[in-house]
Amino acid sequence: MGDILSYLLWGFAVISVYISVEEAFRKTAEKKAKYLFIAYQLGSAVWSMFFGLLLAQTDPEMAADMRIPGMVGMFCYLISATLLMSYWAKLEGRLKFYIEGFAYLGIPLYPLTVSRENISYQVSEFGMSYQFAPGFWSYAYSGYTVVVAINMMVMIFIMIHKSPKKRERVMGKKLFLCEIVIIIGMVMDTIMPQFGFPAFPGSSISQFLGAVIIYQVYLLYYRSQITLENMSRFLYYSVNEPILIYDEKERLRIVSSSAREFFGETVQEDTERKISHIFEVPAGILDMEDDRIVTEAKCLCNDSFCHLGIDRITDRYGDVLGYIIVVDDMTDKINNMKELQEARRRADEANEAKSRFLANMSHEIRTPINAVLGMDEMILRESRSTEVLGYAMNIQNAGKALLAIINDILDFSKIESNKMEIVENDYAIKDILMELTREVSLRAEKKGLRFVTEFDPKLPSKLRGDEVRLRQIFLNILTNAIKYTKTGSVLFHASFTEMEGQQIILDVFVKDTGIGIKEEKIPYLFDSFQRVDEKSVHNIEGTGLGLSIVKRLVELMKGTLEVKSIFGVGSVFYVHIPQRVVIREPAGNMDETMKQKPLRKYEASFEAEDARILVVDDYKLNLQVIQGLLKETKIKLTMAESGRECIQKVQEQKFDLIFLDHMMPEMDGIETLHLMQEMEHNLNRNTPVIALTANAVAGGKRDVSSGRICGLSVEAD
Ligand code: ADP
Repeated sequence: MGDILSYLLWGFAVISVYISVEEAFRKTAEKKAKYLFIAYQLGSAVWSMFFGLLLAQTDPEMAADMRIPGMVGMFCYLISATLLMSYWAKLEGRLKFYIEGFAYLGIPLYPLTVSRENISYQVSEFGMSYQFAPGFWSYAYSGYTVVVAINMMVMIFIMIHKSPKKRERVMGKKLFLCEIVIIIGMVMDTIMPQFGFPAFPGSSISQFLGAVIIYQVYLLYYRSQITLENMSRFLYYSVNEPILIYDEKERLRIVSSSAREFFGETVQEDTERKISHIFEVPAGILDMEDDRIVTEAKCLCNDSFCHLGIDRITDRYGDVLGYIIVVDDMTDKINNMKELQEARRRADEANEAKSRFLANMSHEIRTPINAVLGMDEMILRESRSTEVLGYAMNIQNAGKALLAIINDILDFSKIESNKMEIVENDYAIKDILMELTREVSLRAEKKGLRFVTEFDPKLPSKLRGDEVRLRQIFLNILTNAIKYTKTGSVLFHASFTEMEGQQIILDVFVKDTGIGIKEEKIPYLFDSFQRVDEKSVHNIEGTGLGLSIVKRLVELMKGTLEVKSIFGVGSVFYVHIPQRVVIREPAGNMDETMKQKPLRKYEASFEAEDARILVVDDYKLNLQVIQGLLKETKIKLTMAESGRECIQKVQEQKFDLIFLDHMMPEMDGIETLHLMQEMEHNLNRNTPVIALTANAVAGGKRDVSSGRICGLSVEAD
């Protein structure tokens, strides 16, 4: 019997050592629990080992020697078990101090428990046994073990009744079982020897059973940490994306809970449903070259469109274990995308329709206005009556204002649809500045304002940039300055800053002594249709579009626009635009030149009796206007009212120049031009053709500038 018990205890020792070594190599963030657990298991191992040896002895002295390390194991066991339970029960304050401190009393007790005088040994039917000599130490030792057992009960009670977590309550119940087992063992070899019974090594056996239970509790505790295993559970149960796991023989082994929901009953674990039975994918898709592939496929179970991430799982030797397939249902996303694309297509169509409408409107409105202005120009040239000239001037002003509004609306629509383009040409800055001065100084004078110019004579005479848009920018801020100034003056300044290479920055500012702009309104100045301080400007004509167009144009030219203004005192608008220098020679004194070239009454600048020009326009009034405007040049004009008539005329006669209207019913300018180029009997194959268009929407220019055409877009006047 003694031998059997010894072998049993040695077996326990081996198991406890194995558990503690295994734990030593396990990675865990809970270091304190880990070390206490290892100390506890090692204590158990030493206890089992030496008490097993003690049992096997026949010599009392040898038995006493075995008890010396055996008791070390026992105290180590009791102290580490107390500390581990205290940690799990989250003891704090005095209670922790008392319970943990009491466990350490085992250390001073230890020498007494191994003292040779206190214990007598004799061989019993269970092998070598021992009895305690009565005395203080023996009561102290028994008292110690009883109090430690009570303390453990207290901690277990706390865990079961006070812990907010169910897991900890379950741990507490298991520890309670462990405690009962240990107590039964203790009664046999600690309490019974007190009453003269030989000590049966009950606690040596029960401590091991206790250690096994604590091992279980420890595993339960360990599983509550973040580990690979519980994370896999999380992925399995909680991840929204359906997950399928196949083994290396392509048998479906795991179907995650979301996958069950997604695929329905037909996709089950441990079935032969290959991936090609679930998705529209090639049969051998899993024989993939890389460890991961991503593909898109239709699901055969529910017709949804899915994005599949397929990963091959291999072990550390590189052998295939299986495949994980993470499914992303794209059906909603694809439907949303389709809806967005459809909405965008409709918006584009609507925008196109708007642009077409604007192009047509521009043509329809500009054509008669141009005719009115052309006729009016003839009155201005031919009338001698001051009264009539006055009326004609008014018509001209109103007509130009109307054209300006239409131009602004068209420019705005171009900007909105990102069709505004900057077209660069070589130009003379002098021409722009002087023409603008001429145009606006008259308006300023009429309002009783002083118009002052300040042009740097060193400005390079020829620059490269978009002359038309520059004029538009300057004209806009000049017109505003005059519009919003009642008395005082308007200063028009132009100078430049040298930059690297052939670049300069054109520095232009317009300063007025007008109504000014409130500081808080300045940020809104460039918003479309925004007229700041409506009250003070309501009687001044305007659409609130000008500055937003100016700002955009300046940005397109990579320049900057700044405003400084004091309400009631005046404003300054600064424009800085980079331009390339073509001819560096200074433009010279422009104020002087202006004085040398006063405004004259119209005179034809040339006469060309032999010149023949064909004018093609379906709008009769335009034909009359051209006829009237070119009258004094004595050029021979031939008129055609349609593309077809033009085709006929070019076969009959050779012209020096052809003016061809773009927008005509039946055959438009472009078709007419193409036909002219393809025709055999065309006497005007090499005659320059100037296309006339009232359509200022981008795209118009591009259409007509093909072939041998001199593309000219006549925008406003
Ligand atoms: P509008 O057609 O109304 O003149 P703009 O876009 O050119 O439109 O100008 C926007 C607003 O900025 C104007 O309505 C006016 O309130 C203000 N503004 C522009 N220039 C000046 C200026 N020189 N002095 C005072 N206010 C100005």
